[in-house]
Amino acid sequence: PTMLEVRGLSHRYDGREAHLAVNDLSFTVEAGELACIVGPSGCGKSTLLRCIAGLVKASEGTVRLHGDEVVGVPADLAVVFQDYSRSLFPWLSVAGNVEFPLKSTKIARDDRRRRVEEALEWVGLSGARRKYPWQLSGGMQQRVSIARALASRPALLLMDEPFASVDAQTRFELEDLTRRVQREHGSTVLLVTHDIDESVYLGDRVLVLSKSPASIVADLPVSLPAE
Ligand code: ADP
Ligand code: ADP
Repeated sequence: PTMLEVRGLSHRYDGREAHLAVNDLSFTVEAGELACIVGPSGCGKSTLLRCIAGLVKASEGTVRLHGDEVVGVPADLAVVFQDYSRSLFPWLSVAGNVEFPLKSTKIARDDRRRRVEEALEWVGLSGARRKYPWQLSGGMQQRVSIARALASRPALLLMDEPFASVDAQTRFELEDLTRRVQREHGSTVLLVTHDIDESVYLGDRVLVLSKSPASIVADLPVSLPAE
């Protein structure tokens, strides 16, 4: 089944033609797929993700999440941003940060706690649950962001250059974590990056974007060796 359907999506900042950031994009992402979108810096990748996440209202086009048109910020979608240092609350512990978005849902306290523990286990941070973001390395902070996204059990996980600000070793670990999440958790992931190697290494599929304004120039399946 199709998880995400983007049709004729265009976005102009301030509604001005000169500020066209995304140009008539159409594509779908199937459930369980890890799709990478790759394109040069400034081509409109973040804008595209923000439109999908409902954080920016696209000038034109539609976004459907399992068939329903996205209006506002859908509950069954989570985003991991590049800038982990600004996406965590410094006054909350690791567990508090992961639990935070769940507090605005109807999920009961015990169930919330269980989800937090499970998500922390997934990213290998159970031992750091009482620490604060500033006590953690950048890579660990990004793990917390990923755990927070997973705790809400999103139908679609959006990742915006999630590994661009961590060192190479950590990037390998987090790339593997992302693939594990997709394969073992059955998550649908849409990740944008400017790193072609990363997109080919991670993606089941790579959508290649042009220079700004972003439009799709190629949609390539990546064949993985049989396991
Ligand atoms: P990428 O994520 O591929 O680096 P962005 O989506 O951030 O690209 O930016 C695409 C284009 O939109 C760029 O020309 C950028 O300067 C412009 N842009 C991004 N955010 C805004 C904004 N808030 N207001 C006006 N222009 C913006
Ligand atoms: P080796 O098997 O030689 O030890 P590495 O552990 O260095 O290889 O890398 C594992 C695989 O990941 C290699 O096939 C490498 O080409 C591939 N790869 C390429 N680009 C990236 C990337 N950006 N992130 C992670 N892996 C990558």
